[in-house]
Amino acid sequence: RAKQEGRNTWHLYTRDMSAAIAKRLALRNDLQQAMDTEALELHYQPIVDGHTCRVVSVESLLRWRHPERGLIQPSQFIPLAEETGQIIRLTEWALATACQASHALRKHGLLDVRVVVNISPLYFQRADFVQSIRRALQEAGLPGTALEIEITESLLLANKEEAVTKLAELRELGLYTSIDDFGTGYSSLNYLKNLPVDKIKIDRSFVTDIVTDAADAAISQGIISMAHHLGLKVVAEGIETEAQLAFLKRNHCDEFQGYLLARPAPMEALIASLSAGNCRIALPGMPDAPTS
Ligand code: C2E
Ligand code: MG
Ligand code: MG
Ligand code: MG
Repeated sequence: RAKQEGRNTWHLYTRDMSAAIAKRLALRNDLQQAMDTEALELHYQPIVDGHTCRVVSVESLLRWRHPERGLIQPSQFIPLAEETGQIIRLTEWALATACQASHALRKHGLLDVRVVVNISPLYFQRADFVQSIRRALQEAGLPGTALEIEITESLLLANKEEAVTKLAELRELGLYTSIDDFGTGYSSLNYLKNLPVDKIKIDRSFVTDIVTDAADAAISQGIISMAHHLGLKVVAEGIETEAQLAFLKRNHCDEFQGYLLARPAPMEALIASLSAGNCRIALPGMPDAPTS
């Protein structure tokens, strides 16, 4: 009897397993097809300088327009793409598309807005990573100052010297680099020493309760203070309320990103709103910045 039940459980287990595997396989094939049929899109979310209210950059965020499942968010397919290696092609596509976006911004007179590309650790670690950035810029006829890249802490753990060399080469090219989701990884603060990056992004998980949770507030204040002492700028992501924004502004955070200011949007919509606002987004609840 116990044996019987055991066997049934096993059957259920394998059936669930194979269903999960089949689903993943289907997703992998769909993603391949999406890349072949231009079903992928980048949406762009403004990052605003707290002093001038100018949009200094726009972060590109992948979206997948699926025929049956609608618009799929990156959390639903980036981890899988990383496992299957499809992230390499995805990133190449994103880089080329970000360069086109930069051209579109320039064409509309939005010359100083950098386009940010998220770079997965797998892509960063490739030997020809810097070369692939150089190539993308060259093919698009753009200076390095057109782009900014975001990397995560995890990638610094693997091989710091190699990472430092690559980041320094990007800086030579004129790109800005940021450390994304800062504080969520496992890297020691010591890693920040002598790291040729320009910005640190405070992760949304610290911002969400920043006003009510003393620990989140302290961590954020600590990150800002440390970053400034190291000569780095600080960006806060995931700002949804005026209270969060006010707290961060009061604590000298430099740049702001979140639904409160603007949601990620397709390039045409972004250009329309940036053009209408003279490339500025007023900080809700804050006194107006000088308009010159
Ligand atoms: P991330 O790089 O930390 O991007 C910020 C995420 O926060 C985005 O989610 C953005 O839509 C979301 N966000 C921005 N403001 C707010 C807010 O006020 N409230 C809330 N609740 N969310 C906000 P998204 O677009 O779903 O992307 C999730 C993650 O997927 C990204 O996190 C990034 O790690 C990854 N990702 C997105 N696009 C790419 C890409 O082109 N390449 C790679 N390698 N990863 C990407
Ligand atoms: Mg990012
Ligand atoms: Mg982020
Ligand atoms: Mg994040």
